[in-house]
Amino acid sequence: MIFEGLADKLQGAFNKLKGKGKLSEKDVKTALREVKLALLEADVNFKVVKKFIKKIEERAVGHEVLTSLTPAQQVIKIVNEELTELMGGTQSKITFASNPPTIIMMAGLQGAGKTTTVGKLAKLLKSQGKNPLLVAADIYRPAAIKQLQVLGEKVEQPVFTMGDKQDPVDIAKAAISHAESNNNDVVIVDTAGRLHIDEALMDELKNVKKAVKPHEILLVVDSMTGQDAVNVAKNFDEALGIDGVVLTKLDGDARGGAALSISSVTGKPIKFGGFGEKLEDLRPFYPDRMASRILG
Ligand code: GDP
Repeated sequence: MIFEGLADKLQGAFNKLKGKGKLSEKDVKTALREVKLALLEADVNFKVVKKFIKKIEERAVGHEVLTSLTPAQQVIKIVNEELTELMGGTQSKITFASNPPTIIMMAGLQGAGKTTTVGKLAKLLKSQGKNPLLVAADIYRPAAIKQLQVLGEKVEQPVFTMGDKQDPVDIAKAAISHAESNNNDVVIVDTAGRLHIDEALMDELKNVKKAVKPHEILLVVDSMTGQDAVNVAKNFDEALGIDGVVLTKLDGDARGGAALSISSVTGKPIKFGGFGEKLEDLRPFYPDRMASRILG
């Protein structure tokens, strides 16, 4: 599970502080050095770590903390607050259109978990009373259309497909008309994924974006790829403009470097986390709860 290694190390560092009655500036700095190393080992972006530690140090070596009756608790509280901030602060929700259907465009590289996430998101939205239409506009990956149809059946929500011979822009446009005449208040478009970011992929996504004017563009990235996920997010955001990130495979990501860096590097929130392969394994991403996982 995510943050396993980091949680052990940070809690270890703070336990040493807890054992002392009063703390000196040196005690705090020593603990923060351990925190810094642990974050780097967890594959957190180097610049993010530097900024983070500086901020904590400014707050934690202050008079108030060192003269407090429970200085270690104060330091932990500060770290908790800053970790929460690092992951985006508050939980970011989906923007629903005041005039439905809400159009959600999903993007991501092949294997990130995009198609699975479309199914999971449909299930989550359905449980909130929505009636989503799933749209198969990933016409390149063999079996992506079939995979979406199977997911749609499981969630018991309709899937719109025009096979793999039509242009994704036409598919997406036709899907919106279909949603309008069938009372689907949300349209989730599964777009093309490739192995790498290339111009053809971005052009296609830009065309779909221009044609359907999505209310939300969610980028799906695999948390287990660490800093690669962060770079992918940065590139997609620069080229396409994204509204949020879905971070998948958090159940298998013991380090958590992407979760801790992505929002601060891209300025875009992590809106959902994937915690397993099953349809119910998508959850809103709560930065404060994630920070608590690290600090215990
Ligand atoms: P796509 O190419 O991006 O559409 O990727 P898929 O949706 O086909 O997912 C690729 C693989 O990742 C599949 O085996 C999924 O079951 C798996 N997967 C997706 N999300 C998660 C997750 O949150 N946790 C785990 N453990 N596996 C996931």
